Amino acid sequence: MDNYIVSARKYRPATFRSVVGQKALTSTLKNAITSDRLAQAYLFCGPRGVGKTSCARIFAKTINCLNPTADGEACCECENCKAIERGTSMNVVELDAASNNSVDDIRGITDQVQTPPQGGKYRVFIIDEVHMLSSAAFNAFLKTLEEPPKYVIFILATTEKHKVLPTILSRCQTYDFRRITIEDMVEQMQYIGQQEGIKTDPHGLEVIARKADGAMRDALSIFDQVAASSRGNITYESAIENLNVLDYDYYFRLVDMFRTGDISSALLLYRDVRAKGFDSLFFLNGLADHVRNLMVAADPRTAELLETSKDVAERYTKQATSLPLQWYYAAMKVLNDGDVQYRTATNKQFLVELVLIRLSQLLKPATPPFDLVDCDFPLGDITDAARVAAPSQSTPQTVAHRESLSERSDKSDRSNGSDRSEAPRIRKRSVSGFRLNDNSVQEKVAQYAEQRKEHRERVDLEAFTRAWLAYQQANQQQHILTSAMRNSDPRQTGEEAFLAMVGHPAEVQAFELAMPQLMAFLRQQLRNDFLTLRVEIDPTRAVSKQLPPQEFLKECVEKNPALGELLRKLQAELA
Ligand SMILES: [Zn+2]
Repeated sequence: MDNYIVSARKYRPATFRSVVGQKALTSTLKNAITSDRLAQAYLFCGPRGVGKTSCARIFAKTINCLNPTADGEACCECENCKAIERGTSMNVVELDAASNNSVDDIRGITDQVQTPPQGGKYRVFIIDEVHMLSSAAFNAFLKTLEEPPKYVIFILATTEKHKVLPTILSRCQTYDFRRITIEDMVEQMQYIGQQEGIKTDPHGLEVIARKADGAMRDALSIFDQVAASSRGNITYESAIENLNVLDYDYYFRLVDMFRTGDISSALLLYRDVRAKGFDSLFFLNGLADHVRNLMVAADPRTAELLETSKDVAERYTKQATSLPLQWYYAAMKVLNDGDVQYRTATNKQFLVELVLIRLSQLLKPATPPFDLVDCDFPLGDITDAARVAAPSQSTPQTVAHRESLSERSDKSDRSNGSDRSEAPRIRKRSVSGFRLNDNSVQEKVAQYAEQRKEHRERVDLEAFTRAWLAYQQANQQQHILTSAMRNSDPRQTGEEAFLAMVGHPAEVQAFELAMPQLMAFLRQQLRNDFLTLRVEIDPTRAVSKQLPPQEFLKECVEKNPALGELLRKLQAELA
């Protein structure tokens, strides 16, 4: 192991051609060199580990090479190339501004600027992390940058372009380095694996590349680490095991559970993940990534944004198409809310469970959908929505709710004087929380509205009377009511308004008590949800409006002695 060299160093690119993942940029640089159009100052921007410093060195080597190749690469053989590779060339001076950012440090550079190159054409000054220079150092440097000798080329590198002073930016030709794609990293690691006799599996390498987050240098040091601990056999399993990465299979399974509304399995899976020692926030963010990948995979136009191997991409596409696009918007919202709430949640496990439950309910709302509880749906609507969600539920209660809703609409009808030409109103209610934006709920509401689309068929007295009798027939046990109905002689007072006349307040009360059920029956029979019924006391029939029930009875008994007999028997039996 003495001559063990870390891959990042061993496979550091020596030529532009061997730089991974920056093809466009390196060919531009190469063209500038071959056509001899060199700037005096370059700014290389980009995340860490993407090859900025490597490119700066290759650049320095190439412009000083004594025998450049036909396609403009350094020969890597000549004296100059070798000296630069060894780091002993006087023509290349490097300063890491991250640790050397004082005025004195920069003076060390600027003083050297006046010394001409030896054995080559250019002196190249590479200042890494240039944004870290103190403002005094910046100012000292600026003067040199303004008017350097012809043989001097500055290459400034930074991970934070926005922190570089505009006066410096304006004097540099800027090159933006990209994050290395997963694909490029996997390819490079495959190559290194072949060279080093390490067995690699593309899925394992992908796990490494993902962990490296766009930085080739990081990918290679992780590669070394996994190669060592897996004894030279990098598989998907050895990679996730070594890197403590959560198997994406968990997320695929989880989304299937969301689709089928399988809350229990989702919660159990979360328990397994916790048991494996994974952090809940990490899990939540991983899930968000997965959902984002699915959303990207769902649309062929964005599918290429998916940074993954072909067969995993296919798996994403397959799962992606099993869900409506709206699901993703809702799911992203739920996950984002969860992420925001996580920091302040006192019970984080509970929060994650809640998120999982919500995600499981996006397509299959519970009965009642618990997220509707904190909304301004009136209770009746909740019950109805629940009934829509679970059509098997029995309905008597629901009918009453529908009835009361319709009555409300009657009132509004009358108050705003609308007529039957008005389109049936579907009350739109805002629902608090994420569910409003959730299309599956919107669909549900639309379905629900469709189900309770109001009927408004023409009604005549004959049909009304048939329904009136049918109700009595079906509800003979309601003696007082049916008796009152029998004697009420209903009449039509408007297109959908009816009036029943009774002889006593007790009968009005009987109607009032049965009204929801009665109206539901009549409206359904007559297919008109706007039907109204008033019950009034007929003054000509009224014995006396003022009579309390006792006296009413007394009067009845006087009129009908048989009734008195019946009442006496009844009282005796009860006594
Ligand atoms: Zn050379």
